[in-house]
Amino acid sequence: MHDHPRDACGVIGLYNVPDAAPLAALGLHALQHRGQESAGIATSHDGRLHLYKGMGLVSSVFAGDIARRLPGNAAIGHVRYSTAGESNFANAQPLVGRYSGGEAAVAHNGNLADSQRLYNALCSGGALFQTGTDSEIFLHLMAHELAVNDEEIGRILALAGPAFAVVLLFPDRLIAARDPLGYRPLVVGRLGEGSVAASETCAFDQIGAVFEREVQPGEMVVFDKNECRSMFFAEQNLTPARCLLELIYFARPDSLVFGETPHLFRRRCGMRLAQEHPADADIVVPIPDSGMSAAMGYADGLNLPFERGLIRNHYVGRSFISPGQEARAAAVRMKNNVVREVVRDKRVVLVDDSLIRGTTTSALGRELRSAGAREVHLRIACPPTRHPCIYGVDFPRREELLAHRLSLEDIRTLLNMDSLGYLSLEGLTGLFGEDSDCFCTSCWSGEYRAAPGRKDRLKAEFIPIPL
Ligand code: SF4
Repeated sequence: MHDHPRDACGVIGLYNVPDAAPLAALGLHALQHRGQESAGIATSHDGRLHLYKGMGLVSSVFAGDIARRLPGNAAIGHVRYSTAGESNFANAQPLVGRYSGGEAAVAHNGNLADSQRLYNALCSGGALFQTGTDSEIFLHLMAHELAVNDEEIGRILALAGPAFAVVLLFPDRLIAARDPLGYRPLVVGRLGEGSVAASETCAFDQIGAVFEREVQPGEMVVFDKNECRSMFFAEQNLTPARCLLELIYFARPDSLVFGETPHLFRRRCGMRLAQEHPADADIVVPIPDSGMSAAMGYADGLNLPFERGLIRNHYVGRSFISPGQEARAAAVRMKNNVVREVVRDKRVVLVDDSLIRGTTTSALGRELRSAGAREVHLRIACPPTRHPCIYGVDFPRREELLAHRLSLEDIRTLLNMDSLGYLSLEGLTGLFGEDSDCFCTSCWSGEYRAAPGRKDRLKAEFIPIPL
């Protein structure tokens, strides 16, 4: 039972870097927060692609010297959390395929919002899908359209439509690309004489690479032995729809994502939350680790002491978490313990970055009260989450989203809080000034810019496939 949405995946690519696979594995360690179900690396060597992947964490899939056995100076890697397709070996990435253009490997972060139409169209043209993940669509599109050169690959990417950040590996080159609206993050940099791409800059820090820039929405960056070149496969004047939840929750606080440092952005969210929903309280306590940065900002905003009233045990696996009220309460205690001397007789403001099902938050409220807190006020550093995501983030079903089925007052009562305040959507997007409309807010607003059947507004993003 998870109480936060989960990300879809992390990707990394290295080109012209000696012993690329061990470095790719190292980079994947830094991206582990983006997916823990499977990990894999594909390399290119002597005109052939090589692949190793498995279920589990990077440290277990690439235990010992497994990565060293993958030859080559070019590699792509992937960590997966399943949002489209089951969690099984076949769906682990990278996916490698052979078509008339040769071999190709794909590592994809995101969900293709129009995947059903693409799947139906490709199947009716004779495609046989080997996995249950929409990422395979990239390979089939390449095969169907006989895409080999850069322009042809660009056309494939335009056909796939949002949402993707993808790295593609061929025997002679590597391509890093983002969909035309730029939902998911992707950055490029330098490592010695070589080039790198990754979902987040924390992977660059891990391997000693230097960040250069974001891949732009609708851009593909091509690395081959002669050069690094950029091509746009979609209109460049589209307003982007960067995933705001990346900044609020998913991305590591120390990364650089969409030009922001998530830790600092979350602090600003907390400060804005303090302006919108001040509380008459003694201390501010974060729900660890997700609410840490926002709680700092909230405490700063009201000049209240920031206290670690809850301590997280980082060694609790998901397997411990089982259904049933008693088991859940025990699981919550196992994961977070109250520091009694900190909260006793205090009016506590509990801060988190988001509230999805509310099960953990409700249990933490009870724990704080039983440890002697006089009042517990809950503050959430994003708007009420009422709608699912179709762009590559795993949410519970709509009916399980607390804010979808209950009013704010009912949520407060259910969670037994003395008060409840969410950051407003205007307050959140207002933090970006004139760029306030450059972000996706669908899970709060319910308005989906890129959706199947929305070709009227999305001519540039969904080009019909001529099958
Ligand atoms: S719906 Fe929410 S989680 Fe999904 S891309 Fe948009 S902001 Fe991100």
